[in-house]
Amino acid sequence: MALSAAPSLVQKPSIEEVNRLIGRGEMESWDAQKILTWALENFHPRLALSASFGAPEGMVLLDMMHKLDPTSRVFVLDTGRLAQATHELVDRVREHYGKQVEMLFPRAEDVQEMVRDSGVNLFYDSLEKRKLCCRIRKVEPMRRHLATLDAYVTGLRRDQNVTRSGTKKVLIDDSYRGIVKLNPIADWTQDEVWQYVRKHDVPVNRLHQSGYPSVGCEPCTRAIAAGEDERAGRWWWESPDTKECGLHEQGSGI
Ligand code: SF4
Repeated sequence: MALSAAPSLVQKPSIEEVNRLIGRGEMESWDAQKILTWALENFHPRLALSASFGAPEGMVLLDMMHKLDPTSRVFVLDTGRLAQATHELVDRVREHYGKQVEMLFPRAEDVQEMVRDSGVNLFYDSLEKRKLCCRIRKVEPMRRHLATLDAYVTGLRRDQNVTRSGTKKVLIDDSYRGIVKLNPIADWTQDEVWQYVRKHDVPVNRLHQSGYPSVGCEPCTRAIAAGEDERAGRWWWESPDTKECGLHEQGSGI
């Protein structure tokens, strides 16, 4: 049954109340449905799913949230360097669910200045330049958008990478002015994600069939070989402990 959206009647919990709930620890035992139901009841419409459209996790959460409430919101960071397959998936989602997808773009003047000073493919030159590109194309648009929300949902999972092993299901994200951050499938395995995709016929990025477990920006993603870590194809020229774009900087906190 879809939850009714009554934005004007929603009394969102204070940060102190959320902190108390987190402190009691019980939310870590809630399953994804229960976390999303709680989040929609308390924060919608100032709640949105952050989905890359390049990983099945975000699509699973989109499907769950849409079934709980068809007016639930989803956004994608369109960096200007996404793969064509990712844009195709955005269109498929619009058709499949009849759902709007909010596309967030970087500031044109920031991108112009960056490529004028450092070139269009600066990310291969150094870790600093790669992080600069991620900051301008991803983190700043994300920060701008989160400033309009009270809570957001991500598809982070603990076993994706060493940088994500301490991911909590619910936290206060101080890197974005204390917004509530929800990682409802933090304890899922990759197999569980794909089981959900198959069972519910969830649309996913077609590049997953070509050796890409996750699809980021086109120049920063490659297919992986059998047996490689599932994040090995992202910024493959860097060491595993630097492989974050800055969106989820809280390391063990997320
Ligand atoms: S993933 Fe690559 S192209 Fe995309 S924002 Fe980061 S450095 Fe830039």
